[in-house]
Amino acid sequence: MLRLPSRFWSWPVMISMAMGSLVPHCHATTSASDPAILLDQAESLQRKDHSRFVQILAQIHNEVPHLTPEERWRFSYLDAWKNAFEGNYSKSETQLHKVIDHADSAILVAKASALLLTNLGINRRYEEAFTLANRLTAELPQIRDPGARYLVLMNLSQMLDFSGQTDLALKYARMMEDSIPPGETRCLPLNLQIAALYNSKQLTSADPKLQQTVDVCTAAQRPVATNSTWLVLSSLYLDENQPRKAMELLDRIGPSVRTNQYHDHMLSAQVERAQAHAKLGNDNEARKAALSAVAMSRPGDISEWLMVAYQLLYQIEKKQGHSAAALAYYEHYVVQDKGYLNDVSARALAYQVAQQHMLVQRLETEKLSKQNNILRLQQALDTKAVETSRLYITLLLVILASIVLWLFRLKRSQLRFMRLSHRDGLTGILNHQHFITEAGRVLRLLEKKLGHACLISIDLDHFKRVNDTYGHAMGDVVLKLAVAICQQHLRPSDLFGRLGGEEFGILLHDCSRKQGLDIANRIRIAIGTTPMEQDGSGVSISASVGLASTDTSGYELQRLCKEADSALYRAKRAGRNRVIADTEDGNLVEA
Ligand code: GH3
Ligand code: MG
Ligand code: MG
Repeated sequence: MLRLPSRFWSWPVMISMAMGSLVPHCHATTSASDPAILLDQAESLQRKDHSRFVQILAQIHNEVPHLTPEERWRFSYLDAWKNAFEGNYSKSETQLHKVIDHADSAILVAKASALLLTNLGINRRYEEAFTLANRLTAELPQIRDPGARYLVLMNLSQMLDFSGQTDLALKYARMMEDSIPPGETRCLPLNLQIAALYNSKQLTSADPKLQQTVDVCTAAQRPVATNSTWLVLSSLYLDENQPRKAMELLDRIGPSVRTNQYHDHMLSAQVERAQAHAKLGNDNEARKAALSAVAMSRPGDISEWLMVAYQLLYQIEKKQGHSAAALAYYEHYVVQDKGYLNDVSARALAYQVAQQHMLVQRLETEKLSKQNNILRLQQALDTKAVETSRLYITLLLVILASIVLWLFRLKRSQLRFMRLSHRDGLTGILNHQHFITEAGRVLRLLEKKLGHACLISIDLDHFKRVNDTYGHAMGDVVLKLAVAICQQHLRPSDLFGRLGGEEFGILLHDCSRKQGLDIANRIRIAIGTTPMEQDGSGVSISASVGLASTDTSGYELQRLCKEADSALYRAKRAGRNRVIADTEDGNLVEA
């Protein structure tokens, strides 16, 4: 059983096809010397008239110093294209790398990358080619210029078909139909679809797509592409065991294949012819065709077609009993088979390696972004923790400040209440209770150091009359004024309290009986002589005063009070407005 070739494309064929027919279509005049116009002309001739294209490039070469940087990169790209076309791949590659790395125009970079992909494939540098293909696939959404996109898609489709990824090849070939640049037709996209469908064994000779492609390519005057489709059809006839149909077709396209001089087509047509003869039992014709195919090969050529040709020759010679010839052809067959399979597995392997690299890169990127996310989360958590502890501290400080403030206010009001509870509401001096407490304390201290003190008891005379005559409010005013008069004669260390209605007590601190009598008298006189007025009404008042001294009555408060009270009582009885003191011998002395 013959193993049929699975491919009808080779890289040189593709690059040629992308250039269109080699027959010149136009003869543009190149009298212009404006570099921009020359570049446009070169680009329009690039795929149509190679010699004119080369001429214009030479013309632009002289203008290089006058080119803008972007024009210079455009020129470099076209020059690289020319070099690739002429088989000078290494020079082309160097130029393309420079364009890719330095040109500003994304369109130019995409076109240069697409051409570089072709160059790498032709030179069997599959791993680099697939790595570049992966990059271009990733960049594809950003490539919007129809010319650049068309070229990139074309190269991707070929690359993927080449590596056995026929589904993807078909997808990209279909995508090409949506970005056909001016001057191009559906011929190439359809051809690439035919190739991918054939290689994935989804095509039969009855498929209308074959005729459609032939029609489009014929109308577009693309004889090479048209012949590619015909050769796929003849191969399908052979697959489907219809050798006669294959032969008819090969006879029909023979002249065109010969005219166009495409080596791959001439070789494949010849091998298919040999296969058809073999299937029809015409061994001699098959041998002749296979031998002329072999004759087309250059030394060192390895191809699927040569492998099939040698396989056929081996089978024919073996069948006819020519064992020596059969062995010789078998050896050639093995070399071709091995070489071809090596190349196929090298492509598949390179594709897998590039995919693996991409996967590893993606995993690395994902890992890094995960780590970044973790770090970001950690940072966010740390910030939150700091914010929270700051909040807690602030809250704590606020609570502490509130407590301190509350305690301070509490203490202050306690003190105020305490002070108020010790004071007389009307006059502001000590109340009876507190006066007694304080007087007792002071007397105990004085007793220890044997100091002197006088207790004075004051009662305003006929005060009831004041109330009755001028009203209770006036009575209050008089009480306050009398207190103020007394205070003028007292020292800070003396105690002054209101003992009841209009009765007051004074404990003169560190004061002898004599000094006490003086002070008591000065107070009495001041009360009696100071006019007490409010709202124009003047009130005269006097006071009776009783005095007891520690000198004569001792330090016991109760006794001092009793003595002062009885002295006061005696002063009242003696006619009021006077000071009476106790005496050691009990006699009353009027001051
Ligand atoms: P004497 O000379 O005998 O002391 O006569 P007196 O009128 O002062 O004596 P008495 O004790 O009978 O009257 C005291 C009066 O003091 C009775 C009361 O109306 C008056 N009084 C007591 N406390 C106050 C007070 O807070 N305000 C006023 N306006 N009057 C008061
Ligand atoms: Mg009284
Ligand atoms: Mg009185």
